[in-house]
Amino acid sequence: MTAWEENVLKVVPYVPGEQPKEKDIIKLNTNENPYPPSPKVDEVIRNFSVGNLRKYPDPEATDLVEALAQRYHMPKDQIFVGVGSDDVLAMSFLTFFHGKKPILFPDITYSFYDVWANEFEIPFETRALNENFEIKKEDYFCENGGIVIPNPNAPTGLACPVSELEEIVAKNPSSVVIIDEAYGDFNGESMLPLVDKYDNLLVTMTFSKSRSLAGSRIGFAFGSKKLISYLLDVKYSFNSYTMDSLTIQIGKASLEDEAYFRAKVNEVMETREWTKKELEKLGFSFPDSKTNFIFAKHESAKAEDIFEYLKSKKIYVRYFKRPRIDNYLRISIGTKEEMEALVAELKAYL
Ligand code: PMP
Repeated sequence: MTAWEENVLKVVPYVPGEQPKEKDIIKLNTNENPYPPSPKVDEVIRNFSVGNLRKYPDPEATDLVEALAQRYHMPKDQIFVGVGSDDVLAMSFLTFFHGKKPILFPDITYSFYDVWANEFEIPFETRALNENFEIKKEDYFCENGGIVIPNPNAPTGLACPVSELEEIVAKNPSSVVIIDEAYGDFNGESMLPLVDKYDNLLVTMTFSKSRSLAGSRIGFAFGSKKLISYLLDVKYSFNSYTMDSLTIQIGKASLEDEAYFRAKVNEVMETREWTKKELEKLGFSFPDSKTNFIFAKHESAKAEDIFEYLKSKKIYVRYFKRPRIDNYLRISIGTKEEMEALVAELKAYL
């Protein structure tokens, strides 16, 4: 190691799902939405004047925040927006998990949490899900420096009843509890109505999955006025202009097309239920997904072998070589045609 390297922050980086360069593949590995965003988004992009790019964007992303306020019936000062919910979550870790006690999250969960904790030098402990991949609420009834739980959880796809998560929030008035609802639109039960009851609850969401805008990077969070104001202070002290002017308008347009949003979310959920039945017939089992993916294992075939076979057939799913889940595949829900192609290949292989 050279002398200057001693002063370098060393992290083991998060590994995102593959974004293959090949054409003609079926991509079911990063939980993207298979449908394009609303036609209203298309309109905004076509009508956007490049002259706007001369200026810095609105650091408050006012148009987007106002559209969120309207859509979710929340005051503007209880809304935070960021460049994807990864940005919102990273800022939240930095802001709210600044104590000495360890933060808590499930052992099987979104694999960015331990990366941020390590990067920001936040002590953490994981709490093991039970054998059915369920969260045991009692595990979180103890001293801690903060809690983060995705609901539904990823990569399991399982949702935890809001009443149980509420107990966790209520029993932890001395720490901030973050509920990551990246997949919440496919679930139907949100913690959002509770943010006015608990000033230590932050609920994060994203446009990446249900709104088909993973490429635009839009995430947001709801919380008490106090939480949001602390979060904004840290964000402005880091980089004021994170979201570009076109993206702000894209997000607004997406929110203004509720009918399209509902239709596409429903389509994904219908295809998910169809896929569940087909996978069961083929000998797969899985937690009952409330997301846009299914976390499945086969009764006899090894997940890694199926993963490699599907890849050779240009179908990409996600495989995590990690304790407890190394015989599972996380399969994102594509179009009906894509899922039919997947089922046909699985049949051929098995
Ligand atoms: N939370 C969870 C649980 C996720 O799976 C993802 C997607 N990788 C994110 C947050 C971040 O999504 P995005 O930054 O695209 O909003």
